[in-house]
Amino acid sequence: MIKLENVGKRYGKSWVLENITFHTEEGNVIGIIGKNGSGKTTLLKIISGILKPTVGNVYLKSKLISYIPEKPILIPELSLKENLNYFAKMRNVESKRIEDEIKFFRLEKHVLKKPSELSKGLRQRLSMAISLLIDPDIILLDEPTSGLDAESKKIISNRIKKLKLNKKTVLYITHEDEEVESICDKVLILEEGEIKFFGTVEDFWRKYERFVYVTFSQTKEIKLLKLEELKNVKEDLLHVRSVGIR
Ligand code: ADP
Repeated sequence: MIKLENVGKRYGKSWVLENITFHTEEGNVIGIIGKNGSGKTTLLKIISGILKPTVGNVYLKSKLISYIPEKPILIPELSLKENLNYFAKMRNVESKRIEDEIKFFRLEKHVLKKPSELSKGLRQRLSMAISLLIDPDIILLDEPTSGLDAESKKIISNRIKKLKLNKKTVLYITHEDEEVESICDKVLILEEGEIKFFGTVEDFWRKYERFVYVTFSQTKEIKLLKLEELKNVKEDLLHVRSVGIR
């Protein structure tokens, strides 16, 4: 579906991506993880065609591709429904698709609201709904659930699972272990612009250990634990926060 061969990208003198070679299959969801500045967004922009690679080749089986940036692009003067109608008209999309996406993203109660009246989660759901109107084969998502409420996270995760069922290829940047576990087929780790790991989720967990920060209720003490150590903790815990891999 997507094939990259020795892709590299340079901004000025510094290379931010080097030797990127991998391919994906239809119906695969790939989680892209890596520290800030490791090149994740640049990689999605290159696949989407927004940026040209400095070297290397990108092959896509389909031209129907949607890139959904971290910050949604919505028209402030238009209501939620009018935003959908506007983009649908521009792209010649039938109105049934609009109704479907409103349902999938549970937007029914909010159709009359302007973007400024929507929560961050609702704005992201609307932005994804708009991008999916054209029924793309390849979907590129830049941190779609970052900083969102639990309900929006769940709705977006469910939509991604549905895309997978419909044999779409999804690449998305995430920091959340739970999403890697419940949605992804494969994981791609970027480190300083290079692929550190590309493989199945099972191999990923076998290779990297999961850590969590726990806060004890009584003492308010914070500790870093391996995930498997969590079940041995006897004290009450106030918070458990995932910190990803080590
Ligand atoms: P990530 O998404 O993993 O945080 P990015 O792809 O946004 O990483 O950025 C990778 C590196 O490229 C960073 O060091 C960033 O500062 C740099 N960079 C990103 N965009 C530009 C640009 N337009 N011009 C120059 N440097 C850039």
